[in-house]
Amino acid sequence: MDKTYTVLLVAQPNAGKSTLFNILTGSRSYVANWPGKTVEVNEGIMEYRGKKLKIIDLPGIQSLHTLSSEEKLTKEVLFKGTWDAVVILVNAESFHKSLYFALQVLEITKNAILVINKIDSAERKGMNVNISALQEILGVPVVAISALKKVGIEDLLNRILDVVEGKIRTKEIKLNYGRIEKYILEIEKITGSHGLAVRALEIDKDVLSNLNPEDLGHIEKIKEDIKREFGSPPNEIIAMERYKIVGDIIKKTTAEVKVKRK
Ligand code: GDP
Repeated sequence: MDKTYTVLLVAQPNAGKSTLFNILTGSRSYVANWPGKTVEVNEGIMEYRGKKLKIIDLPGIQSLHTLSSEEKLTKEVLFKGTWDAVVILVNAESFHKSLYFALQVLEITKNAILVINKIDSAERKGMNVNISALQEILGVPVVAISALKKVGIEDLLNRILDVVEGKIRTKEIKLNYGRIEKYILEIEKITGSHGLAVRALEIDKDVLSNLNPEDLGHIEKIKEDIKREFGSPPNEIIAMERYKIVGDIIKKTTAEVKVKRK
């Protein structure tokens, strides 16, 4: 039998994830009971161009600093799960905040597709996103859709097929954190990945708990060095730098066009 490809949907609440999930899976969805988990997860099977896709609607997650059991589950799947593609849904109506979150996820996730939803509402307000420029900057496939109006869904499905079938393979993205980049590279030697080094500086307890005491001590020392050099805690500097990156990306890829009013 043909392989069923697993596709994860990840987003902050209100990005339109349920709307998209329902379009994709229609009536063929069910609540999955995952062993050892109390959180309910919606799953659905769909077929596109003769390929079977299992769509998993992971609980909406505000950030990668997990608090609720829903958020914990989503993060655990991203870090330890197996899947063929991850669809990260961004809300065009709150583009800054949403893109900030998406970058955090992209830093730790390979084979991701960035999907900008609510493009109908953005366009109505005169916001124009240059998709190919955004794709170029991030190095991952980017698709603009309106889940509400069912626009761009086929485009998204084609990108999903490209990724699950291996025509497009992407790595975790590497952002440049400027003034503290050299410290991140130092921690990367311990964590083995740039994204995890960033998370270690963001004081991600899940990431830190995987490290041995000696490595933790080394990271603590680097954190102290950063504090001494810049006068702020590393997690704050990371957030500041990432907001700068988001601002820069948005400046390069979006334009405000005048909307004609009748
Ligand atoms: P979730 O929290 O991510 O599951 O988001 P929902 O699917 O529940 O959608 C949140 C709100 O956004 C609802 O009011 C939807 O009708 C609305 N919404 C979803 N997709 C779109 C879209 O493409 N355009 C617009 N304008 N609204 C949308």
